[in-house]
Amino acid sequence: MFRIGFGYDVHRLVEGRGLTLGGVLVPHHKGGLGHSDADGLVHALCDALLGALSLGDIGKHFPDTDSKYKGIDSLILLKHVMTLIRDEGYELQNADTTLAIQKPKIAPFIDAMREAIANAMEVDKDLISVKATTTEEMSFEGREEGFSAYAVVMLRKI
Ligand code: MG
Repeated sequence: MFRIGFGYDVHRLVEGRGLTLGGVLVPHHKGGLGHSDADGLVHALCDALLGALSLGDIGKHFPDTDSKYKGIDSLILLKHVMTLIRDEGYELQNADTTLAIQKPKIAPFIDAMREAIANAMEVDKDLISVKATTTEEMSFEGREEGFSAYAVVMLRKI
C-alpha cells in the first residue's frame, strides 16, 4: 500500500543569517529568516512526509512558540518525522524536491544536500532527489526577498 504526500514552504531571505538548505550551509550574504535554521527545503520535506499519513504539519509537531526549537537544525526535525512515519509502519519509497531561489546558484551543493537528507532519514541517497530553479527574476524569489521549496514523497507500507 502506497501513500503520497506534498509539502510547501517559504522563508524570507535577510542579511545577517546563514543560508541552510537541505542541511547544507550555502555561502551567501543573506540567509533564511525563521525560528529554526529556516531550512525550507527540509521543512517542505517534513510536511510532505507528515501529509502522506495525515499526521498534520510541521507547525503542529514543532511549534515556533516553543523555545526548544529556536535555531534548531531542521535535520533533527526530519529525523523525528521519520520516526513517526516508521512508527506508523511506513518506509520511504522516494522523495522529490524543488527549491525556487534566484541566488545563489544551488547546483554545486545539490549532491551534499541529497547526502545530508538521506543520512538524516536513514535511506539510500538515490531515493532523494533535489532540484533547483530560479523564477526568471519574477516574483518574491526572483526579487531575492525569499525562497520557496516544494516536496513530494511516496511512502510504502512495510
Ligand atoms: Mg519553514
